Formats: sequence, structure tokens, C-alpha cells
Amino acid sequence: MVILEVEHLKKTYTTRLGSNRVEALRDVNFNVEQGEFVAIMGESGSGKTTLLNLLAALDKPTGGQIRLNGKNLGDLKEKEIAAFRRENLGFVFQDFALWPHMSVFENVAFGLRAQHKTQNLSEDVLSALKTVQLEGYEQRYPHELSGGQQQRVAFARAMVINPDCILFDEPLSALDALLRESMRFEIRRIVSERKITSIFVTHDQLEAMSMSDEIIVMNDGEIAQQDTPENLYNHPQNHFVANFIGKSNWLSNTDMIRPEKLSIDARGRLEMKVAACQFMGSSYEVLLEHGDQPWILLSDYKMNINEMIRLNLNENAIIQLRGEEQ
Ligand code: ADP
Ligand code: MG
Repeated sequence: MVILEVEHLKKTYTTRLGSNRVEALRDVNFNVEQGEFVAIMGESGSGKTTLLNLLAALDKPTGGQIRLNGKNLGDLKEKEIAAFRRENLGFVFQDFALWPHMSVFENVAFGLRAQHKTQNLSEDVLSALKTVQLEGYEQRYPHELSGGQQQRVAFARAMVINPDCILFDEPLSALDALLRESMRFEIRRIVSERKITSIFVTHDQLEAMSMSDEIIVMNDGEIAQQDTPENLYNHPQNHFVANFIGKSNWLSNTDMIRPEKLSIDARGRLEMKVAACQFMGSSYEVLLEHGDQPWILLSDYKMNINEMIRLNLNENAIIQLRGEEQ
């Protein structure tokens, strides 16, 4: 079942002086299925926050429509919007946005109280806190928690109301690397268990790849491709996506191969010169001279700059962009 439908969505900002118009969203169309986890990725300025703000009914589109669970956001009257947001949406932001003067319990209880859903208040709040592994923290205040714990509270607060959809805006970027990784798994596990539809804006490719059913790649106010992580990587539809997702080695304007599909072979038919070599932990990333678009190779051992090496490429792994004229 489709829960979120976005049709011909446009947003044009007029800057304060009125002389400049920014087309932040040009013609955005997509659907999200109930319970799906969808990441929105794109470079800075590509329109991610604008899109999220429109989904959150925090701003109005210049054109097009958004339907959430059958309800057209454009039909909401001004005074209905706050209630709509409170009852149907959860928010998790980068800066946590907890209420500093409220205990953890009260932070999580807030949305339930606002909707007068207090019959099982204690039970609901404690169950949400248990889900995010914060049992026993009910009486603490936000400043008495680590960043990771605060983010868990924010997440508990968003999901306790059983929203139609949770909107995440770079929720993990303020956390350190290890914590970020464990939170990825945890968020994914919890929204899957509870079948909560999730829209997750992130810069982080690994985050998007590892968590999502689908990724929407934005480019300059438009969707460059909406697809599964596997399809984005293995079958990018255009140059932008091919370069944006993963590393790419270009053989021609339309043909590309991923670094892991190259192999070092003394009798290989390609000879190239090492331009740089970086240790990445699990392997060395080797930069090879190739006109103005160097190639990248993964190697188990260190290579010397200016060394000539021979390569084989797995012809079956060449990715061809179709319908691209460049
Ligand atoms: P992202 O979140 O992907 O970095 P944004 O949605 O914030 O991108 O911005 C998209 C484009 O719209 C950018 O060019 C940005 O400068 C512009 N923009 C965003 N908000 C405003 C605003 N309030 N007024 C004018 N331009 C804006
Ligand atoms: Mg943004």
C-alpha cells in the first residue's frame, strides 16, 4: 500500500530582495510504500531540506501535491496543520531538539499528552524507552545524557505516537563513528519491527546504503534516480548517479567499471601508472593516472608512486549508461 505520494512537487524561493528566484525543487515525483525505509541523498543545496520541510507541512509548495495516508496536505486548513503534524508525523533531527527542562519521561510522553492518549501513558513511554535501550533513565534530564542517549530519546519520542511516517534529518551526523554505526542497525531494526514508514535524509552514503529499502538521489532540485541501493550501485541511470554513488572508473563517456572489478595481473592488457596510494584499513586505495579522471584500484599491498602496473578488467562488470549523450 502506498502511504506517501508526491506529485509534480515544486518549490521556488524568492529571495528577500525579490530579484532572485531559486528553484529548489523543480518537478519531484515519488511514492513510498507503507513501512518502507527511504533515504534521500544529494549534495548540499540539492533540495533535501526543502523537500523534508514540505513533507512536514512546515512550508507550502509552489506547485504539485503531497498525500500522506490519503490526506492531501494542501487541503489542510491553517489551524489543522499543527494537529496533523502532531498526530501523523514523527521528527528526528540532527540536533536532537529535546526539551531541556523536561525529564526523559516527559520528553517522550509529550506527544501522547498533546493528543490526550494518556490511558496507558506510563506503559507506552516505558516500552518506547525500553525499545531504545534507555530503561531506568526516565527521571534524567537531557543535559545528564550523552549525545547518543539524547538521540535515542528523540527517537523514542518520535515513535511512541505510532506516526504514519517518521522524518529523519541527518539524525546521526552529530554522533561519533562507532555509535553512528550501531544506531544505524538499531533504528532500522526498530522501524522495521514497528512497520513505521521512514524518510531519512543523509549525506552519508554508507548510512543510506546499509539502512534503506530505496534511495532517492537528488540533483539540483530533481530526482536523479530512485532505486534500491543495489540498483543504484550496479545500474546507475546517469552520470550523476554513477559518480555520486560509489567510486567509478570511466572507460569512455558511457562505460564505467567499479574499483573492485579491476584485478592486478602481470599479463593484464592495461598498463597504468600509480599516482597515489592510501591505506584505508581493509585495503589500499590506489589512484591510477588516467587523463583528467584518475582510476581507483583496491590493492592488498602498498604500491609505489610512479610504479607501472598491469590490470585486467572483468568485461562482464562494465556498466553501460543508456540514453546518455555526452
Ligand atoms: P539541501 O538540504 O539539499 O542542502 P536545501 O533544500 O536547503 O538543500 O536548499 C535547496 C536550494 O534552495 C539551495 O540553492 C538553497 O540555497 C535554496 N534555499 C533554501 N532555503 C531557502 C530560502 N529560505 N530562501 C531562498 N533560498 C533558499
Ligand atoms: Mg539540508
